[in-house]
Amino acid sequence: MLTHNLGFPRIGLNRELKRAQEQFWKGTIDEEELQKVASELRMRHWKLQAAQGVDIIPVGDFSLYDHMLEMSAALGAVPERFGWDGTKVDLRTFFNMARGGEKAHAMEMTKWFDTNYHYIVPEFTKQQTFKLSSDKIFNEAEEAKAAGFTIKAVLPGPVTYIHLGKVMGEKFDRWEHLNAILSVYEEITKRLAKDCEWIQFDEPAMVLDLPEPVREKFIPVYKRLKAVAGGTKVMVATYFGGLGENEELAASLPVDALHVDLVRSPETEQSLPEKIPASMALSLGIVNGRNIWRVDAEKALGVIERVKGKIGAERIMLAPSCSLQHAPIDLDAETGLDPEIRNWMAFAKQKCAELRLLADIEENKDVSQALEENRKAWASRRASPRVMNEKVRARMSSITEDMYERSSPHGTRKAKQQEVFNLPCLPTTTIGSFPQTGEIRKIRRQFKNGEISENAYRVAMEGFIKDAVVFQHEVGLDVLVHGEPERNDMVEYFGEQLEGFCFTANGWVQSYGSRCVKPPVIFGDVSRPRQVTVEWIKYAQSLTDKPMKGMLTGPVTILCWSFVRDDQPRKDTCKQIALAIRDEVCDLERAGIGMIQIDEAALREGLPLRRKEWDEYLEWAVGSFKLTASGVGDATQIHTHMCYSEFNEIAEWIAKMDADVISIEASRSKMELLNVFEDFEYPNDIGPGVYDIHSPRVPSEEEMVELIRKALKVVHYEKLWINPDCGLKTRAWPETTAALKNMVAAAEKMRI
Ligand code: GLN
Ligand code: ZN
Repeated sequence: MLTHNLGFPRIGLNRELKRAQEQFWKGTIDEEELQKVASELRMRHWKLQAAQGVDIIPVGDFSLYDHMLEMSAALGAVPERFGWDGTKVDLRTFFNMARGGEKAHAMEMTKWFDTNYHYIVPEFTKQQTFKLSSDKIFNEAEEAKAAGFTIKAVLPGPVTYIHLGKVMGEKFDRWEHLNAILSVYEEITKRLAKDCEWIQFDEPAMVLDLPEPVREKFIPVYKRLKAVAGGTKVMVATYFGGLGENEELAASLPVDALHVDLVRSPETEQSLPEKIPASMALSLGIVNGRNIWRVDAEKALGVIERVKGKIGAERIMLAPSCSLQHAPIDLDAETGLDPEIRNWMAFAKQKCAELRLLADIEENKDVSQALEENRKAWASRRASPRVMNEKVRARMSSITEDMYERSSPHGTRKAKQQEVFNLPCLPTTTIGSFPQTGEIRKIRRQFKNGEISENAYRVAMEGFIKDAVVFQHEVGLDVLVHGEPERNDMVEYFGEQLEGFCFTANGWVQSYGSRCVKPPVIFGDVSRPRQVTVEWIKYAQSLTDKPMKGMLTGPVTILCWSFVRDDQPRKDTCKQIALAIRDEVCDLERAGIGMIQIDEAALREGLPLRRKEWDEYLEWAVGSFKLTASGVGDATQIHTHMCYSEFNEIAEWIAKMDADVISIEASRSKMELLNVFEDFEYPNDIGPGVYDIHSPRVPSEEEMVELIRKALKVVHYEKLWINPDCGLKTRAWPETTAALKNMVAAAEKMRI
């Protein structure tokens, strides 16, 4: 059984690529130096994969920014505004497309399926032409071939590439360009065939609900590509879900191998093998490429054996479920992790070794020791008292229906809250964080490294909180926040104080470009051993007579931005987090905090890729939020916040969350999101953002008045709040001050 990989993390164990990219952008290194770092990383990663026993090594998965952008460069799909000369796409043009140029705004970036990786969205215009405009993948194939590796070129498949793009300007059918794009793909395929044993076309779009005209494209596309591949084998890779109604289609593709994600869709094991023709190999995505847990070798072997029984060993290939770019690189570097927990994990490098282990077992090699180690690690994980917390279990089973509901409907609550807070109409507030200055970061770092005492840390933080309160008084905001100086990150901060979480030192994964995130790991039952935010918020409230909003991160967001345990359903883990945060909500109320915001920034991004799975997800996600929020009395005002504006499709679910006030992003899209409220009246209070915090630009009072006017067309005057789009932590003080002053002035102007 051949082992192969679908892609490897680009960024480097110590984020070498990030550093080089950023130095290049600053101008402190030149292109040659940047390319040197890149080629060293590629070589290091090829060697690493081969050394772990991967038979076929991916090339072309590397990028200085993003693999979809590489495809756009290869096709010459460069939007006109970048003033490209039409020869080869040079590095300057490439980065301008990703990040914006002197005069041209960047191409849009959006989430890659349901991962936290973002790709650059291809743009299509009616008059566009395509021609081969980058040699990158050929150069990398030559590089790898010369170094002696057996290689598989990896690139986005044409159907997925076109499907994920967007039409700009004059409306037209993007598939009109298919033929032209495919001609370039043919040329690429022919050239790659010289150096590569395999070419892998990624078609993850096959796991989506696809309209018939898109489904119809696959067969003719792969007929053409297969026809020019010569002796080189062609693989179509699908991942992030099951094929569903596209299964027959996938099985009838005229290609040499089909890759499927058995981690996300274990049922494929039963339905697919019989459908594929004898000429097709099946690549089993059996090691989870998206998470950090060890493969359960015995379970995986069971799957392999059953598939073998149906199609024979020769036609099976073993692989991670998807590209390993979504996993951190090397567990061996995590020397600070608790050894017991570390032993349950595998990062990209270890996952490569797991593939080898599974293949070796199938080839009857003596790997009993490694297999035994795998078995022991799983036994230890299953039995560990650190995973299973009786108290949490008991609480989970004693949850009652009424814990999901506030005691009175919103109308009743609102009247009681208004008695307490006596707010003006169009009340002004912010989303939570204030600019995170170098000074704030320094204090946090010093405290983390043990360079300053807890007391000195607290005094410094209280200083920042006081500054924030004084500032908000000066600006004239109605509902204040403490500014979140103590938080490095809205998920990590809570994870660090909850049981059941641990943190890696180097578990970085690329989010976009040079940006990486280091998600917390949820390994066990979650609980809250002590209060997390209460002291800070209480202190902040002691400084003012105005209402102080307590600030929490919601359970769905904590779940979505972590590596989650795979030994129980995600919804159960989410519910445990909900109980932990619920405790904090109740403690805040008890401490006299009358307004509590529970951020659910990730609720929408957790939506399943398939529509028919939405309701089930929303049911438990919204349920978890309500469980978190509903332990308080009528007079306590619950806020929530979401930082995106595409929520038309889930507006009813957002309403079901029953937060007293919701703040959402709206200013960037000029209140477009409010269209949804023309047909659907949002029942509670709402603050569509009037200040775009993603840019340092200061919006004028008039601009914001205009946005408020727009909002008032669909939101009742007594339900509208005035706030920015999101938190202000990435902004600097001067623009924040100016913008918030304008915002307060705009609100005052609009008050009756
Ligand atoms: N309360 C958080 C902040 O203001 C919310 C951040 C977010 O929604 N991403 O920073
Ligand atoms: Zn936000």
